[in-house]
Amino acid sequence: MNLSARSLRRASLAAVALASAIGLAACSSGGDRPNPSISASMSPDAGKDGKNGKSAAHWSYEGAHGPDKWGDMGGEFVKCKTGREQSPVDLEPGKAGGKPAAIAVDYRPVSLKLENNGHTIQASVPAGSEITIDGTPYELQQFHFHLPSEHTVQGQGTAMELHFVHKNARGELAVLGVMLKEQPGASAFAPLWKALPDQKGRTAQVSEPLDLNKLLPQERGSYQYAGSLTTPPCSEGVKWTVLKQTVTITPDEANQYRKLFPKTNRPIQPHNGRELITSETSPGAR
Ligand SMILES: [Zn+2]
Repeated sequence: MNLSARSLRRASLAAVALASAIGLAACSSGGDRPNPSISASMSPDAGKDGKNGKSAAHWSYEGAHGPDKWGDMGGEFVKCKTGREQSPVDLEPGKAGGKPAAIAVDYRPVSLKLENNGHTIQASVPAGSEITIDGTPYELQQFHFHLPSEHTVQGQGTAMELHFVHKNARGELAVLGVMLKEQPGASAFAPLWKALPDQKGRTAQVSEPLDLNKLLPQERGSYQYAGSLTTPPCSEGVKWTVLKQTVTITPDEANQYRKLFPKTNRPIQPHNGRELITSETSPGAR
């Protein structure tokens, strides 16, 4: 079986698993998951495993419900410890190779609503922005942040990481990761940071429409690999693209975020023989 057919099938299975996990937990809407209401509608089985997920709602990044316990918290969360293609991973340029997918980004200026969901600040994105991976469009659902970064490059992380979460017509997920580096000066995040909701459950509207392309680096070289959600239920079949070039965020902005969420990165997961593909540029990328 060729790689793309195999990964497609795997992604499809994972999408079903993801949809069936939606009913698990009221507070698990954070992190890499797409909008639950959209995913739940993709599967008639949504929520049927909810009876097993009673404690799963309380996952966190530290302590008794931290990442090393996620897999023991019931229901679909078991994937967090049994999965063989988990994210994040360390990205090592020396080990990368293979044939990269062609990725084109088509993001639009959008009005954004931010939500503090207790795990991250998540921006819901109206329909109309997408990425295309080898000809398949994936619509942007939401983006959110982690501090410090989840992926590392040769063991080195950055101050924060931005995840754009997309979904195709079959419910399969693709995440575009952007590493954010602290640097004083101008920041594309200023309009968002003015509106950061500072308490769990709070939402805020960003005052002006934001061109999402401004949150991306100019160079589109990337690492690509098959991974998972980095938050419970750690569903696999996620197409990961992590851009090589960083985007800057100011130290003040990182500190402001750190006051809300001191630590929100899942530890690095084993590669288990997965292929890490490197792309210098993406044909068709803006
Ligand atoms: Zn994420």
